[in-house]
Amino acid sequence: MSPEERSQLPPIPPAPHAPPAGPTAPGSAGTGGSRRAPPSPFSHGPSTHGGSLPSAIIAHARLLRVFDSRGNATAEAYLSTASGALGHAAAPSGASTGATEVHAFPEGGVPVALERFQRKVAERLIGFPIDDQDGFDRLLKELDGTSELSNLGGNTTTALSIAYADLRSKVWGVPLWRAIPGCPSEPRFPALVGNVINGGAHAVGGPEIQEYIAFTEAPDPGKAVEAAVAVHRAVGKRLREKFPKGALGRGDEGGWVAPISSVEALEVLSVACHEVHDERHAQGVSVRPGLDLAASEFYRKGRYVYRDQTLDPDGQVAFVSKLIERYGLAYVEDPLEEGDFAGFARLTSRSARGGNPLIVGDDLYTTHPARLERGLREGAGNAVLLKVNQVGTLTDTLRCVELARKGGWSTVASHRSGEVPDAWLAHLSVAFGSRGIKCGVLGGERIAKLNELVRLAASPTP
Ligand code: PEP
Ligand code: CA
Repeated sequence: MSPEERSQLPPIPPAPHAPPAGPTAPGSAGTGGSRRAPPSPFSHGPSTHGGSLPSAIIAHARLLRVFDSRGNATAEAYLSTASGALGHAAAPSGASTGATEVHAFPEGGVPVALERFQRKVAERLIGFPIDDQDGFDRLLKELDGTSELSNLGGNTTTALSIAYADLRSKVWGVPLWRAIPGCPSEPRFPALVGNVINGGAHAVGGPEIQEYIAFTEAPDPGKAVEAAVAVHRAVGKRLREKFPKGALGRGDEGGWVAPISSVEALEVLSVACHEVHDERHAQGVSVRPGLDLAASEFYRKGRYVYRDQTLDPDGQVAFVSKLIERYGLAYVEDPLEEGDFAGFARLTSRSARGGNPLIVGDDLYTTHPARLERGLREGAGNAVLLKVNQVGTLTDTLRCVELARKGGWSTVASHRSGEVPDAWLAHLSVAFGSRGIKCGVLGGERIAKLNELVRLAASPTP
C-alpha cells in the first residue's frame, strides 16, 4: 500500500474493547454510538426506523490483520458512522474444519484479503444504511463473487457481517443481541457446553475424541460458569492422581490433555460431572457429560480408528449408542464422519428421545442452510452447531436458526479452536435463542464469552 493510499484510510478507531458503558447496557460495550433508542430494534424493514429517524449510514470501513489464540493471523473489521458510532468484530479460525466450510481466507492469506478489501470492498460499503443485515451480507457475497467465498474469505466477511450488526447496536443504543434480526423479546440464557478435556486436532498426545464436555445448566450464567470451572478443576485433580509423575498439558481450547484412551477420558469426565452435579443440584445446577467426537478426524478408509479399536460405521453407531446409555450423555456432536447423514439418522432414532441427548451436526452441516434442510428431511440429528465463519455471514447463520426452529431442532452457538477475545458469540447465542453456547471453559478468549453472559444476566435491561 502506498503512503498516499494509506493516508486515505480512516483512522484506526480507539479502544474497541472499551469497558461496558454502565449498569444499564452492559452488553452494548459503550464504544460511543449515539444512544438514542430506536422505535423498535426488532424490525428490520427498510432503512428508516418507523419513518421518524433518519437512517444512519456507514461512513468508514476498515479491516486489520490481528491474531487469534493460536497466534494465526485473522481479520478484524471496523465500521463506523460519521457521528462516531463504531462497530467492531474479529473472526476466529478452526483446526478441525468441515470439508464444506467456506474458505477462511483467499490464497495468500490475510494480506491478500486486506488488499482486496481495500481495493474492491471498502468504498462499496460507504453510504450503506446500518439496518439492512440481509442486504449488507448479500453485498459481501456479491463482492466476493464465489460460492465458497474464496476471493475475500469467509473470515473477512464474518468480521464485517458481525461488525455491521455491532455498529447497528451502537447506533441504536442496545446490546448487540437486540440488534440481531429475529432476536427474542427477552433473553434466555443458553446451557454451557464447556470443553474440559481436549483431544483430536486440538491436542498433541490426547485421545482421538476431540472434546469432553461438561453440559451445564443453572439458574443463571454465573452459577453455570462456576460449575463448569469446578468440573475442569475436578478433572485436573483426577488426571494428576492418574499420572502422578507425568506432565499434564492444556489443548487449544483450554481443556486438559493427557495420554489416555477415549473411554478412559470419558470415565474421568463422567466422575467429575457427577461430583459437581451432586454438590450443586440443590441450587438448581445440572451437570451432565457430553462429547464432540469430531469423527471425521479419525475416519480412515471407511473405518473409525481409535488407538484400541477400529470400527465400521455400524460399529461406530453401536459404540456411541452404548456410551450414551452408559454415561448418560447429554450432548453428542459429530459422532460420525461429515458425509454420513444416514448414520446420524440411525443414531438419532436409536438413542435420542425428545431431544435428549442433543445429537449435534457440526462438520456435517457447516452452518449451511441447504445441508441443514437435507438433515432435517432425513432426521440426521436433532441439533445444529452454528459457527458464522463456516458460512461467512450472519444472515446465512440466521437462516439455519430459522430452519432449526421450524423443524423443532435445537441450535448451539459455537466458538472456534483458534479464538479471538471478542464476546459477540455470547450475544449471538442469546439472539438465536440457542439451547447451548459452546465456548470452552478456561482461557481468556473463552472466558470473555462467559463473562459477557454474566454481564447480560446482571443487567436490569439486558
Ligand atoms: C469444533 O470442532 O467444534 C471446534 C470448535 O473446532 P474447530 O474450530 O477446530 O473446528
Ligand atoms: Ca465439532
